[in-house]
Order: sequence, then C-alpha cells, then structure tokens
Amino acid sequence: MSDYKFYDQVNKAFDKAAAYTRFEKGLLEQIKSCNDVLHIAFPIEKDDGSIEVIQGWRVEHSHHKLPTKGGIRYSMMVNEDETMALAALMTYKCAVVNVPFGGAKGGIMIERNNYSERELERITRRYTFQLMNKNFIGPGIDVPAPDYGTSAREMGWIMDTYRQMSSEIDAEGCVTGKPLNQGGIRGRTEATGRGVFFGIQEACTNKEDMESIGLDGGIEGKTFVVQGLGNVGYHAAKNMVESGAVMVGVAEIDGSIYNENGIDLDKLMEFKKTSGGITGFEGTKTLKDSSAVLEAECDILIPAALENQLNKKNANKIKAKIIGEAANGPTTTEAHEIIKKRGALIIPDNYLNAGGVTVSYFEWLKNIQHVRFGRMGKRFEEESYTRILSVIETVSDRRFTDKELKHLAKGGGEAELVDAGLKDTMVDSYNEINELRKVHDVDLRTAAFINAINKLGEIYEQMGIFP
Ligand code: GLU
Repeated sequence: MSDYKFYDQVNKAFDKAAAYTRFEKGLLEQIKSCNDVLHIAFPIEKDDGSIEVIQGWRVEHSHHKLPTKGGIRYSMMVNEDETMALAALMTYKCAVVNVPFGGAKGGIMIERNNYSERELERITRRYTFQLMNKNFIGPGIDVPAPDYGTSAREMGWIMDTYRQMSSEIDAEGCVTGKPLNQGGIRGRTEATGRGVFFGIQEACTNKEDMESIGLDGGIEGKTFVVQGLGNVGYHAAKNMVESGAVMVGVAEIDGSIYNENGIDLDKLMEFKKTSGGITGFEGTKTLKDSSAVLEAECDILIPAALENQLNKKNANKIKAKIIGEAANGPTTTEAHEIIKKRGALIIPDNYLNAGGVTVSYFEWLKNIQHVRFGRMGKRFEEESYTRILSVIETVSDRRFTDKELKHLAKGGGEAELVDAGLKDTMVDSYNEINELRKVHDVDLRTAAFINAINKLGEIYEQMGIFP
C-alpha cells in the first residue's frame, strides 16, 4: 500500500495516548523524535567478482537511557520510514517492560535469499564497520540484535568484527542474540515467541476480561491462527500448543492452510523443510492466498510476520476475539479501531513482543559482568535446599524419593533464571498496562503508550535540557 507510512502510524497511536498524560507539547515532541538517523551506502564484492552497492540504516530513537537497543532486519521492505518507526517502537517497548535502554533499529535493504553465505557475511561485517566508523555501535552506545531476516549467525559476525577492531573489555556486549559459544545466553532464540505466549496466557488468565469478549479463561482448548512461522511465530505457536491450545490455521509466504480440528506443528515444520512451503500439507485446506487465513474462524490471531497486515481492507473480516501482536506494527490505526469496535482484545506489539529485548537485556548484563547467571549461586542453593529437605525428613515421617529430591533441590541455572525473569517481566507488565487500561477506560495499546510516555516524560523532566 503506497500511502502507508509506518512512522506516522506509530506517532498517531502515541498522540492518542499523550492526551491522557500531563506533559507539555514540546516535551512530547522530544519523546517522539528520532534523535539520530544514519543512512549508509557501501559496496560489497559479490562471489562472481562484481560490485554491488548496498543501502543500510541505523536509527537511534531515544537517548534517555543508554545504550540504545534494537534489532537489525534484512528485507527488501527496509527503508528510512520503517527503520524510524521500528526504532520508536523499541523505545516504548523497553519502557513498558522496564528494560533500561533507549530504542534503536537497523536495516539493510536486501533479499537475503539472493546472497550466498559468504556474501551475507561480507555485507554484515561491512555494515558493522560503517556503524563503528560513525559511532553507532558499542556496549554503552547502541547494541543491535536479530530481527526479521537475521539470526544468531549474523550477530556472531557483528561481534567478531567489533571485537577485532576494539580493545574494550566489554566488547562482547556490543550485540545480543549471539551464538551461545560467542557470549550468547540460553533462551534468547526462543525469547520473543515465549514472551508472546506468556503475554497471551496472562491475558487469558483474567477471567473477567475474557468474559467481556465472550471467551472462557485459560489457554487450553482455545483455537489460534499464526501468520509467519519464522523464529517468533514458531516459538509462540509451539508454546501455545504445548499448553493445550489448538493451531487451526497458518499463513506463510507461499499461502495459507486451515483445519478446524488442528494442525500438527512439528509435522508441518518437517513438511516446510522439505517442500519449502506449507501449502499442500496433509489434512489441511489450502486457502486462496497467504492472507486469507487471517480472516478464518478462531479465538486468537497471532500475526508474527511484518507490519501492515491487518488494515482497512481486511479488518472488517477478522473474526478472532484476541489479536496477539507478535510482529511489530501488524495492525494499522484504522484497522485497530475497526477490530476494537467489534469487541476484540488487541494485545499490542509494544508490550507483547518485548520478550526478545528483555532476554537481550539479560545477555548484555551477562556480557558486561563476564559471568553466566547461576554460576556462583546454583550449587550453593542446591546444597542449602538439600539440607532443609533432610531436616524435614528428620522431623517428620516423610521420605523423599531420589526424583523428588532432585526436583525440590534444584538450583537456578542460566536457562531457569532467564525463563523466570522473562515470565516475571511479561506477567508484571501485562498487569501494569491492564490497570492503566481500566483507570483511563482505553484499549491496551493506548494504555501501553501512556505507561511508556509517563516513564519517559518523568526522566526527561528530571534531566532538563542540556546545555
Ligand atoms: N528485534 C527484536 C525486537 O524487535 C529484539 C530487539 C533486541 O533484542 O534488541 O524487539
């Protein structure tokens, strides 16, 4: 849609919420503005010896806290407007979940499948070099992470490039979402999808809220449709299925499929690996195009692909009662109003997909502390619990089996601590914004923006203007 301006969309939602805050126009303008916008064009050598000029961006939206933080995406849809919108969303998202970073985002305009692994490595390393050159990367400056079209592999290349050229002791903290053996953290890959699940689960736990949209409490038995089986969509769907929800529809680039009785996620992933797509998967009906399944009958719709997927063209036809925004900006402001009027609950992106940056925060802490979470405490905890359990055995008739002892005396290792920290963040933040929703009688998106603006506004007020 050519008239679609993503940054405008984010700012419209911001303005709507700003009306419920006490800050003056100039300060709101300061919160909203993108502080630094970098556009670079650099050459790379292709495998056949030819030269291609690549376009890339990095936007640091807000420096109220440092470093700034946000992913890097590789897609043909990348442009300055999109990168600015995504950087702004990162600021609000971090504020909502109390992650002490400013927002940023980067992007390279390429179709990644058209490049060999070596070419992608050259693009990534050269982009990193440009960011270093312009002071747009560093553990205390701006810290990228994976996003659409990038993964741990690219983050490893970024870290290596940075470390080769910097003597900083904290160099590993220049990027997150790295491979585990290069300073990554357990649970980061799954984090965004798992956070999406925790958020939806928390919403479903609230019986009163569920009744108001005509659903029972709990995740079990609820039907859902997911758009995009990339890292975020897959892990969100996996967690939903493991908790007893039924996946009835899936959309991917090649088309969409539906089966009201449920689709086997593991088998579908196997099928996708061998056939390259999802259409034609056994036991499912192939729908007319990849967006058709968004309009299918289901309780929960999880758009986990790109922005502008629920828009004025299809908003009237969306039947889901809960929209769980796993992607950034999947619902336009117009579509938001239409879907809301129909009585659906929209769990907004600026809260729901914050699990990724939350665990990125843990990874960054691990990097600058130079120690894995749980390394000092795990055995100590286990020995303390074991002593307590043996006292319980001495003063009572209770005898624990070896299995019980192992379970009850388990100390927190990195994976357990990360998961607990992620869950705590998603649950607490949901209740924080749900409270604001009731206080102001607004929707959850507006409540999340109010929450973010209040936190940012107070910081800016205290800081004053320099010089
Ligand atoms: N790209 C992810 C997002 O949009 C993660 C960002 C990060 O971990 O810094 O939230």
